Parts: sequence; structure tokens; C-alpha cells
Amino acid sequence: VGSLIIVPTPIGNLGDITLRALEVLKSVDLVLAEDTRTSGNLLKHFQISTPLRSYHMHNEHRVLDQLVSRIKAGDTLALISDAGTPGISDPGFLLIRECIQEGISVTCLPGPTALIPALVNSGFPSDRFVFEGFLPPKKGRQTRLQLLAKESRTLIFYESPHKLLRTLTQFIAHFGAERQLTVSRELTKIYEETIRGSVAEVLSHFEKHPPKGELVIVVEGFK
Ligand code: SAM
Repeated sequence: VGSLIIVPTPIGNLGDITLRALEVLKSVDLVLAEDTRTSGNLLKHFQISTPLRSYHMHNEHRVLDQLVSRIKAGDTLALISDAGTPGISDPGFLLIRECIQEGISVTCLPGPTALIPALVNSGFPSDRFVFEGFLPPKKGRQTRLQLLAKESRTLIFYESPHKLLRTLTQFIAHFGAERQLTVSRELTKIYEETIRGSVAEVLSHFEKHPPKGELVIVVEGFK
């Protein structure tokens, strides 16, 4: 029987790939990738010629049995996503759960993910925290925010730039205008920056400088 290895890949800066990630991607029988074009470029950059196959939100249910049979027949597969750690606001969970249920060995390498640098960089307590990923787009969004309003641990959200102003406005309603937060943009990239302040201050900053690129919001817990 083969195994499944989860391999984090850079979230911007290619220098963040680990030596082990390269070794694993070179030695496995197949690499499962969210987008074979994006990952094809990554593998090419590191001169890795392992075959790639797509594994994404739209086929993850359908290909599950095939992949499990392949591993049972002896192949070792690596799973990567477009950026960061698979399974973190990215596909992975279904395959991992299925492999565990089938008695297949699953290993996850440590490596890049956006939430950890954003959290540590926020300067808010990082001994206990809550990762919320993306808020529900419409239905359930207000309820979720309401449930989080009195959460005392540091909160981490992923958000897209075109929804940031709306989200910060909703934060004022649920967390109050004075709650402290940070927005980390373009982590590991050339224009990386962290904006710090109260919700009202950060909102006013982004009203003047429309947000671009990828970002993580970190909110101080309720006191
Ligand atoms: N699997 C990834 C991880 O481990 O962080 C997350 C994938 S999720 C589809 C993409 C979201 O992650 C973005 O919308 C943004 O919130 C966050 N993100 C990814 N790369 C980032 C970066 N370089 N800087 C800031 N946020 C980033």
C-alpha cells in the first residue's frame, strides 16, 4: 500500500518551498493539484517532472474512489493546492478523511499557510486563536458574526479584497468600531504590508486606499 502526503506550497514567495516538499514532489508517483497549470509552472520552476492530475472542488467527490484504489495498489500520491496548505480553505479534507477511513497512511508536511504569519504578525495574543476562514457569503453571515462577537480568543478571517469594506462595516456593527484588528496584505510578496488599528481606522484607511491582492484579517478577542 502507498500513502498520501499533503504538501504545502508557497503563498507568493517561491523561496518558501521547503527542501522536504521538493524531495516529496520529486519522488511520489503522482501529484494531485487544484489547478494543473498553476502547479505545472511551480513544478517546472523546480525542475520536477512528476505527473500531475487535477483534484479540485468540482471533482473531489467523483475521483475519490479511483485515488484511494490507486494508493491501495501501491502508489504514493502528493496533494498540493494553488497556494499554501491543502485543506486550509482549499480542497483536501475529503480525500484525507477517506484515506484515514481506508487505513491508508496520511502525512502532512509543515509549510506555508497565510493564517500563521498574519496571526503572529498581528501582535494580538497568539497562544489561543480561532481560524474562521471565509465568512459565509450571504446566508448565515450575520449569525456567524453574532456568535463571534463575545469570543475572547484572537480571530482570523480570510477575505477577498472586493468584500473587505463591506466586511469591516459589518465588523463595526457586531464587534464595535473600537475593536482592534490588522489586515495583512500580500504576505511574502513584494508589496507585503500590515495595516493596524481600530475597525473604524482600518476601514477609513481602505476607503482611501482601495484594497488589492490577497489578505488576512486578524481581530483581537473580546475583552
Ligand atoms: N490554502 C491557503 C493557506 O494555507 O493559507 C489558503 C487558500 S484560500 C483559497 C486563499 C485565501 O488565503 C486568500 O483569499 C487570502 O485570504 C489568503 N491568502 C493566501 N495567500 C495570501 C497572501 N500571500 N497574503 C495574504 N493572504 C493570503
